[in-house]
Amino acid sequence: MNLVKNGTSPYQIILPVNAAPAERYAASELSHFLARMTGVELPVYGEHMPKMGPEVLIGHSRRTEALGLETQNLGEEAYSIAVKDGNLVIIGGSPRGTLYGVYGFLQDVLGFRFFAPGCTKVPKSSDITLDPALYLHDEPDFKYRESNYYHILDGATAARMRQNGAISRLKEEHGGKHAYVPGYYVHTFVTMLPPEEYYEEHPEYFALVNGKRTNEPHGKVCMTNPDVLKICTEKALAALRAHPEATIISISQNDGMDPCECEECQKVVAYEGSESGSILHFVNAVADAVAAEFPHVMVDTLAYVYSSKPPLHVKPRPNVQIRLCSYECCFTHPMGTCDLMPNNARHIREHSKFAEEIVGWGKLTNRLAIWDYVVDFEFYNQMHPNLHVLGPNMRFLKEHNVYSVFCESQGQGAGGEFAELRAYLLTRLMWDVNFDTDVGIQEFCDEWFGPASEFIQEYIAMITDAVLKSGWHLNLFDNPNAPYVTPALLEKADELFDKAEAAVADDTVRLQRVRKERLAVRFAKFFFPGLVSDREAEVEAYMADAASLGVTRFSAKWGRENVRRLALRGMWPPHADDMTVIPDR
Ligand SMILES: [Zn+2]
Ligand SMILES: [Zn+2]
Repeated sequence: MNLVKNGTSPYQIILPVNAAPAERYAASELSHFLARMTGVELPVYGEHMPKMGPEVLIGHSRRTEALGLETQNLGEEAYSIAVKDGNLVIIGGSPRGTLYGVYGFLQDVLGFRFFAPGCTKVPKSSDITLDPALYLHDEPDFKYRESNYYHILDGATAARMRQNGAISRLKEEHGGKHAYVPGYYVHTFVTMLPPEEYYEEHPEYFALVNGKRTNEPHGKVCMTNPDVLKICTEKALAALRAHPEATIISISQNDGMDPCECEECQKVVAYEGSESGSILHFVNAVADAVAAEFPHVMVDTLAYVYSSKPPLHVKPRPNVQIRLCSYECCFTHPMGTCDLMPNNARHIREHSKFAEEIVGWGKLTNRLAIWDYVVDFEFYNQMHPNLHVLGPNMRFLKEHNVYSVFCESQGQGAGGEFAELRAYLLTRLMWDVNFDTDVGIQEFCDEWFGPASEFIQEYIAMITDAVLKSGWHLNLFDNPNAPYVTPALLEKADELFDKAEAAVADDTVRLQRVRKERLAVRFAKFFFPGLVSDREAEVEAYMADAASLGVTRFSAKWGRENVRRLALRGMWPPHADDMTVIPDR
């Protein structure tokens, strides 16, 4: 079946009557990308037009019904792609599913790759021939998929990468998203029960710590006080009434330590064998009230720090999702294969319980959500060789009943180490955990770095090998001079980057991309005195180049000026008493 032949096509794209914005957008995206591939622009019409020839049917319509294609059994984000009686049909379980079907068709049938904004691999051809028996069904491995990498947050990019999370700027035309109630994303007890409003009159609402009710802003609340439950339930319902578009509300502990030590709370904790017990009894009660008025809304809570361990008896309600965080994972080795705490976090304890906890929670609920950390938050532009664990980790999560994945990335600004590559691999994996990241790295590098691809791939393999051989267990806060970074490694890295830069010397865009990745090597050298000749000049050149290469944020913690001073000093980490955070302006 020839969708396009010799640069012409008899096909028209047909939309259902009263097409949803996402279906219209799906049709325009398909028409746009087919034109970029073949030079032929297929017209888009509504279903009221009489049939004039073979058609591309987008979404559920009378025409698809007449062809005997049903969508009843398709999940919201699932889709089918089929050739039927000479027509091409792309149909999803919802308008969002249909839009994903268009991207699935472009990617999996035609060979498009949506690598990054401004970088789409478009196969060029004057012909598109489809198998007359083509039938393809697909759906995502995780229901909620989100990386907050800064460069993929705009709606068009997030949709092409089939992200559906709360932070992305996805509009209705992009299929919408899972939306949290504004202000109710995480650590929400402080929002519902601000100490400045309640503490003076009702200290008993707050956690008893060392014999005293605490009122510090990140403090905890008493989980068994009935008035606390009443206030939080009313606030949650009021927030949901004010935001009918919301699909999730977080009722979750504040950041930090110190749960309530009062007698009632500790009775529940003793019975449940975990602090998560007292929290979950509380959250279940709020969730029951939410279910009665907002049956479509999910109540989200944290299993975090002191509440990570699953309870012995209570189970989350069907409308409660448990968010478990991978903050204590080693990122050198895949989840479930290494229970050692990362080197930088050994002061907490020797062994991580993360894998054990995920297995435990996965048995209690089908609504397990993971908050994973995929970059180095201490310094975004340093070598963080974790690409080899991304695939195994996603497969581990899928195996243990996880349904929602949030990859905390570099959300505050652009320009981190391999940000575009890592975002591409993560978004593909969140859709399909069996996506082959080796192929993904190669395909991405060939397009993104062009003739420099082989040298960059060799560099990635080299730094991965270095961290594996060093015995270092990567953490989310490793320093630029972590032990896997050595002078010998930096010397070899320089050789590879010299070759990479030479290979793209005539290609300004790709040269910039190569030089951006080289920033990791340049910065690491500041911490090896023998590798720096004129420190001041090199640091100033680094800072200027980083800015011109698009780095807008260096660290989750440190500002630009801190980074400059640390490089001048050649010492990391800073001692707490000699450097305060200087925020970026
Ligand atoms: Zn208490
Ligand atoms: Zn490890």
